[in-house]
Amino acid sequence: MTRHDTVHDLVGIGIGPFNLGLACLTDPVDDLDAVFLDAADGFAWHHGMMLDDATIQVPFMADLVTMADPTSPFSFLAWLKETGRLYPFYIREDFHPLRSEYDAYCRWAADRLDTLRWGRRVTAVEHDVTTDLFTVHAETDQGPETYRARHVVVGIGTEPVVPEPLRGIGGPAIHSAEYLPNREALRTAGSIAVIGSGQSAAEVYRDLLEDVRRHDYRLDWITRSPRFFPMEDTKLTLEMTSPEYTDHFHALPEPVRDRLGREQRGLYKGISADLVDELYDQLYRISARGPVPTSLRTETSVVDAAWLADRGTYRLTLRHEQLGETYEHEVERLVLATGYAPRPTSFLDPVEHLVARDARGRFAVARDHHVDRLGGRIWVQNAEEHTHGLTAPDLGMGAWRNASIIRSVTGRSVYGLEERIAFQEFGLPATRPSTPCPVTERAEVTA
Ligand SMILES: Cc1cc2nc3c(=O)[nH]c(=O)nc-3n(C[C@H](O)[C@H](O)[C@H](O)COP(=O)(O)OP(=O)(O)OC[C@H]3O[C@@H](n4cnc5c(N)ncnc54)[C@H](O)[C@@H]3O)c2cc1C
Repeated sequence: MTRHDTVHDLVGIGIGPFNLGLACLTDPVDDLDAVFLDAADGFAWHHGMMLDDATIQVPFMADLVTMADPTSPFSFLAWLKETGRLYPFYIREDFHPLRSEYDAYCRWAADRLDTLRWGRRVTAVEHDVTTDLFTVHAETDQGPETYRARHVVVGIGTEPVVPEPLRGIGGPAIHSAEYLPNREALRTAGSIAVIGSGQSAAEVYRDLLEDVRRHDYRLDWITRSPRFFPMEDTKLTLEMTSPEYTDHFHALPEPVRDRLGREQRGLYKGISADLVDELYDQLYRISARGPVPTSLRTETSVVDAAWLADRGTYRLTLRHEQLGETYEHEVERLVLATGYAPRPTSFLDPVEHLVARDARGRFAVARDHHVDRLGGRIWVQNAEEHTHGLTAPDLGMGAWRNASIIRSVTGRSVYGLEERIAFQEFGLPATRPSTPCPVTERAEVTA
C-alpha cells in the first residue's frame, strides 16, 4: 500500500474533458494543490467513434479553458499554434474542430500537466471526522494507493447503455462506443442494423451506407423516435446553455425539472441538422445507380431480440408504435447506438452518510455542484442533468462549472464568472417583484 501523505486541497476522480479542464484551470493557482486520478492509461476521448470526418458539436471556444480564461496557455488556439495548424484552421473557417483534433488537443494539454495520475482506479472514498479529511483509495498495477484531500471532485462521466430487451442478447452485437474497432468485421456481414436515433447512430449509418454496394450488405436504421430529428441549435435555444437558465432550471420543483428534462432531450440528443441533410444527399447519390439496399424505420421499437447462433443472425421482434403491430426482422449484425448513462459512483458508499440525495436516490446536486451535507466538499461534474438540465454534459459549459468549483474551493473568484449571458429572461421578470406562484399552474395561467 502506497500512502501519499500530502494533504491535497482537491483530488479529482476521472480525467475526462471536464476534470482535465479543472486540472488546466487549477494549474496556475499557486495556493491550490490538486491531483487527478484516472483508471485509464492516458486520455482517450471516445476512440470507438473517432470517425475521420466527425466534428465536435460545439465551437472550439468550448475547449478546456477558454470560456473561463481566454488567455490560458491550455487553449485550443494555443494547441493549433504549437502544432502549426492555426492558419489552416483559420482558412478552414469552421468553428467546429474535428473530433480527432479535440482528442489530440486534450492529450496535448494532459501531457503538459504534472497533476495527473493515470492507471488509478478509485475504489473508495472515506472521510475521517477527526481530521475532516477525505482518503481516496485507488487500485494500480503496483498495488493500492491512498490520497488525502479536503475536497473531492467526481468526474467519471458516462458509460454505454443498452436498454432492455437488447441487454445480454449475446452474439456479435456491439454498442456504437466500440464501432471503429469493429468497422471492418461488420462489413463482412450480409445485413446490419443500426438501432438508435442520436448523433452516433447517424454517424455509424453514414459510414456503413457509403460501403453498402462495395461490401454488398443490407443496412437497416431502426429507431423508436417519431422521426430522425435534428439537434436544435438555433441561437435563442442555445441561450439555454447559460448560467442563468441553469439557475432557473435548478430552482424549479423536481417534478417540473423531470418533465422538462424529458422534453428537452431533443435539444441535444438529436442529430446535427447538416448530417441529416447530408444523409439524404448520400442516399440520393447512391440511388442513382439503382435501389439502395437500406431501410430507415422510425416509430419502431425493439420489443424482443434473440441471437440465433445456428443461423448466425438476430431475430428482432419490432413494434410499430403508431400501428401497435409487431413483426419479426432478421439481421446478421447489430450496432446499438443506444446512448450513455452516468457511471455508478459506488466508491462513494463509505461516505454515503455525507451525500445528499433526492427521493429517487439521485444526487441532490446544489447549484454550485456540491453533493455533500458538509456545505461543499464533494463535487460532481456531468452527473447533474436532473438538477441543472442540458448544460450538464455540454462541453461549452465545462469551463464555467470548473471556475465555479474553483471559486467554492478557494473562497475567491479566480476566474470571472458570468451571471447573465442571455438576452432572454427565463424566470419571472427581474423588474417585477416575484410573487410566489406554483410554476406548473403558472404554465396554464400563462396560456
Ligand atoms: C461520441 C460522443 C461524442 C460527444 N461529442 C460531444 C460534443 O461534440 N460536444 C459536447 O458538448 N458533448 C459531447 N459529448 C458529451 C460529453 O461531452 C462527453 O461525454 C464527455 O466526454 C464527458 O466528459 P466527462 O469528463 O464527464 O467524462 P468521460 O469523458 O466519460 O471521462 C470519464 C473518465 O473517468 C474515468 N473513470 C471512470 N471511473 C473511474 C474510477 N472509478 N476511477 C478512476 N477513473 C475513473 C474514465 O476512465 C474516463 O477517463 C459526446 C459524447 C460522446 C459519447
